[in-house]
Amino acid sequence: MPDQLTLHTIVSRGFSQNAYVASRAGRTDCVIVDPGFDSQAIQQCLATHHLTPRAILNTHGHIDHIAGNEALKRCWPTCPLVIGREDAYKLTDAHANLSAQYGIGLTSPPADELVDDGGTYTAAGFTFDVLAIPGHSRGHVVYLWNEDDPWVLFGGDILFEGSIGRFDFPDGDGRQLLTAIRTKLLVLPDDTVVLPGHGGATTIGRERRHNPYLRE
Ligand SMILES: [Zn+2]
Repeated sequence: MPDQLTLHTIVSRGFSQNAYVASRAGRTDCVIVDPGFDSQAIQQCLATHHLTPRAILNTHGHIDHIAGNEALKRCWPTCPLVIGREDAYKLTDAHANLSAQYGIGLTSPPADELVDDGGTYTAAGFTFDVLAIPGHSRGHVVYLWNEDDPWVLFGGDILFEGSIGRFDFPDGDGRQLLTAIRTKLLVLPDDTVVLPGHGGATTIGRERRHNPYLRE
C-alpha cells in the first residue's frame, strides 16, 4: 500500500461488501467509497480517527454499495455524493438498485456530482482518475489513485481475487465487462492494488496471471 494512503475497510454484514475510508497521511479529511449497509460502523470509524468526509464516492448504484449514503448525508449534508453519470438514476430507483428484488426497497439521496470516463475527481487531497467499466452495471466507474506508488484502484464489483463481477443483471453484459477489464485495467502496472467491493485486496499483476476468467 502507498505510504501516503491511510485506509480503513468496513465490511458490512449480509452482503460482505467493503466500504473504504481513505485519507492521505497526516490529513483529517477523507473520502468514503461505497458506504454499504453498516453506516454505523463507518460513522464510528470517522469518529475514532477524527476524520471529516469530503466526498462519498459510489462505484455503481447497486444497493449493497449505496445503502449507507442516506445516513452519511444526514450527518454530513454538504459532503457531495458522487457516482458515474449512467448509474445515477439507480440511487433513487429501488428496482434499478436491486433493493426491491431483495424485499427491502431502499433508495439513496440523489447524486450531487456525476463523473464520466476519462475524467478526474479531486477531494481530501486525492485526485482520482475515473474509468468507466460497463458490464456489471452499465454506469459502473472505478476510481484510480496514481499520485503515489503503488497505484490503488477502488474497483467496486469489476475485478475480484480470482473472479470478476456478475454480468447477469438486466443491464449486465459479460463481453463488455471482459473487454473493459482487458483494455482499461490489465494495462495498469502489475503492482497496482485492487480494492474490490467484496473480498480481499489483490493486484493487477496477480489477476492478469492467475484469474481464470481472464485467460485468453
Ligand atoms: Zn454490484
